[in-house]
Amino acid sequence: MSKTIEDIFNFTEIADDCVKCGKCIPVCTIHNVNADEVTSPRGFIDLLGAYKRGNLELDKTAKDIFESCFLCTACVEVCPKSLPTDMIIEQVRSDIAQKFGIAWYKKAFFLLLRHRWLNDIAFKLGYTFQTCGFKIKDDINSMTARFNLPIIKSDRLMPSLTKTSFLNAHPENIHNGGKRKVAIFIGCLANYNYRKIGDSLLEILEVLEIDAFLAKSQKCCSAPAYFTGDFDTVDANAKFNIEYFESFAKDVEAIIVPEATCSAMLKIDYEHYFHDQPEWKARAKAVMKKVFMATEWLQHHTDLEHLLASKKKVSPIVTYHDPCHAKKMQGVHEEPRNLIRQNYKIVEMSDPNLCCGFGGVTMQTEKYHFAKAAGVPKAAMIEKTKADIVSAECSACRMQINNSMYNAGVETVFKNPIELIAQALKN
Ligand code: SF4
Ligand code: SF4
Repeated sequence: MSKTIEDIFNFTEIADDCVKCGKCIPVCTIHNVNADEVTSPRGFIDLLGAYKRGNLELDKTAKDIFESCFLCTACVEVCPKSLPTDMIIEQVRSDIAQKFGIAWYKKAFFLLLRHRWLNDIAFKLGYTFQTCGFKIKDDINSMTARFNLPIIKSDRLMPSLTKTSFLNAHPENIHNGGKRKVAIFIGCLANYNYRKIGDSLLEILEVLEIDAFLAKSQKCCSAPAYFTGDFDTVDANAKFNIEYFESFAKDVEAIIVPEATCSAMLKIDYEHYFHDQPEWKARAKAVMKKVFMATEWLQHHTDLEHLLASKKKVSPIVTYHDPCHAKKMQGVHEEPRNLIRQNYKIVEMSDPNLCCGFGGVTMQTEKYHFAKAAGVPKAAMIEKTKADIVSAECSACRMQINNSMYNAGVETVFKNPIELIAQALKN
């Protein structure tokens, strides 16, 4: 039986519940690139139980171990007891942040995420999302330059910035007939880096004659801060977003999100985060009922699938990757495929459910060697399909998969399903 939110934070009980069956080991993203019992779900659970009982000091070694989990939830999906390894690791990362502090560049990054106006300025200066990615390499290169050592060649492909963010490029209210209306939560990567996702979503809503409210005051869902243990940022942004969503929720049918991580954070992780703040937990639960992933809502609540079926089939072959935060956390996996296959041929990769290896800010900086290794099998299986396009409704997956394909010399192009659907509607 699944654990309740309250059970989840009883680490010692969870540790006692693990029957050490090992079913989680073959699917574990970190264990697949670092085959050590301590970096496996049952290893994490054992150590967390010992920490909570006072038998394990939260020292640098323990910090290093607990920061090695990708939070992909692959273990939870196969565990016969549904033990929530990812959630207890998210909790202990707050203890780690309090004891060891948070690196300056992560603090700077999270400060941006707390203030949209600051983020907008930083974005104009080309700073947003380049910060963490380049920080470590810059540090190493400045050291190597000082000692006349060769500069490290880049093995990282970062997303480029668009000239004007999605939210700043459009009016807040877009009228498409006035019969139906949805709000859009766009997410930071789609707002600043992959603007075509939002533009495509607006094109789809226009064809469907559904008004759009861009909810311009939205703040980052705070997933990057949550996965890093910066709970002050989570508290501030989550409370702001809940109050803000409450202010317009009655005026819209849904709040649609073309991003798996943001959607899972708003719908699921806010409730987990507020497990010890009952009033906020109840408010999060009530208002986030209106949140849906974009393909999920479009397939179940509009005629889009039929409309696409009336359009031409096009030649590019698509393979679809299931983001952990979409399939494993929200059960969304058929919807994007059902919409895409109306116009494109889909060829499935050998394991679409395998985590891409993004893993969050710490994994993309201090533990980048793990993220890079975890991306290798995903790039290889994409290449094997010979697809022209790889698609996933998640821009964190997009960053990681693009980087993995770049490192492996795979030339498949990445598109969010919303971009593919908007393109098909034009045919
Ligand atoms: S699958 Fe669950 S019960 Fe089995 S070893 Fe892993 S965490 Fe423990
Ligand atoms: S969340 Fe992913 S990386 Fe972490 S223990 Fe579970 S399977 Fe392994």
